[in-house]
Amino acid sequence: MQSALSITCDFDSGNIVVLDASQPQNVRLAIRPDTRSPHFQWFHFKVEGMQVGETHTFSLTNASESSYNRAWTGYNAVASYDHKTWFRVPSHFDGKALNFTCSPEHSQIWFAYFEPYSRERHDWLMGQALNEAGTELLATGKSVEGRDIPLLRKGDGAPGKRKVWIIAQQHPGEHMAEWFMEGVIERLKEHDAQVQALLASADLYLVPHMNPDGAFHGHLRTNAQGKDLNRAWQDSTPELSPEVYFVKQQMERYGVDMFLDVHGDEEIPYVFTAACEGNPGYTDQQKTLEADFRARLSGLTKDFQTRYGYPKSAPGKANMNLACNSVGERYKCLSLTLEMPFKDNDDAPDPLTGWSGARSMRLAHDVLTVIGEMVSVLR
Ligand code: ZN
Repeated sequence: MQSALSITCDFDSGNIVVLDASQPQNVRLAIRPDTRSPHFQWFHFKVEGMQVGETHTFSLTNASESSYNRAWTGYNAVASYDHKTWFRVPSHFDGKALNFTCSPEHSQIWFAYFEPYSRERHDWLMGQALNEAGTELLATGKSVEGRDIPLLRKGDGAPGKRKVWIIAQQHPGEHMAEWFMEGVIERLKEHDAQVQALLASADLYLVPHMNPDGAFHGHLRTNAQGKDLNRAWQDSTPELSPEVYFVKQQMERYGVDMFLDVHGDEEIPYVFTAACEGNPGYTDQQKTLEADFRARLSGLTKDFQTRYGYPKSAPGKANMNLACNSVGERYKCLSLTLEMPFKDNDDAPDPLTGWSGARSMRLAHDVLTVIGEMVSVLR
């Protein structure tokens, strides 16, 4: 019997091109590039009409041409029957295509590159932040296509308070970044003693989602103009990168005493940070604070480490278009890029979920603890 598979991606953060779905044992697919950009890696689609218990094999035939083709080795795709609970499915990269197989328990299933953080959940989170976590909506930027970019503040903005900025998901396919922000907001709701101590000395400035257009369109890397926002911090414009332009304006208005830019890394199976060592104006205090942050966070959780990460920039050779470097140079403060894996943390692997939304949230709890411990030495 020929099954009639229906494969769709016409929804928030959907991305797939169906080449041939006539054979359930060999469904041939491709990932669609970002708008006005050759980047691609993120995929997210729904399959209906599957035969329960039968083997189905899906092949992402252009995986080897994606932005990070080393990302597929050691990677397992995520799947869900209800778009709420996500699990990993065994996947194999054959040098050309990423192939994954499942014998489904239900006739419909979603697959994605990582547990998606939906626009709907973003809207819910903003409600939680404003109504339950006591943040205020300080300003609202607009994306290229006019989507809101809320800037939230927890704290009263009183003189003398440290200004701690956390922004997330400049790269729209890095959905773990907004899961992290949900963890921040959850912890603010709990309002435990450590958070109270932090907030006595610091205000938090939060941009939970920098790139709503890119995420909606199922992009990996760019906004609706094809701009990589984390390569736009020297030359952002209201036309091409209004998302960055907005946040830079707000930083000038309020100031910055610490900056954390939250990302996901396609290749490295660990959580790590990148910092400002290549900046022309790199200071001894920045160096000390970076080391302090890393030591404290790795002491607190197995979900952070310092052995693996990006090669360090040579002195004076940093790419100043990156948010971390640009903000660190401008404000001479602790400034970090935080990278979480798409694969798993190999120091504490979870074969069922790999790295996940829940683990991103837990990491945020620990990061807030560290910021609380360090708040008195940030300046
Ligand atoms: Zn990124």
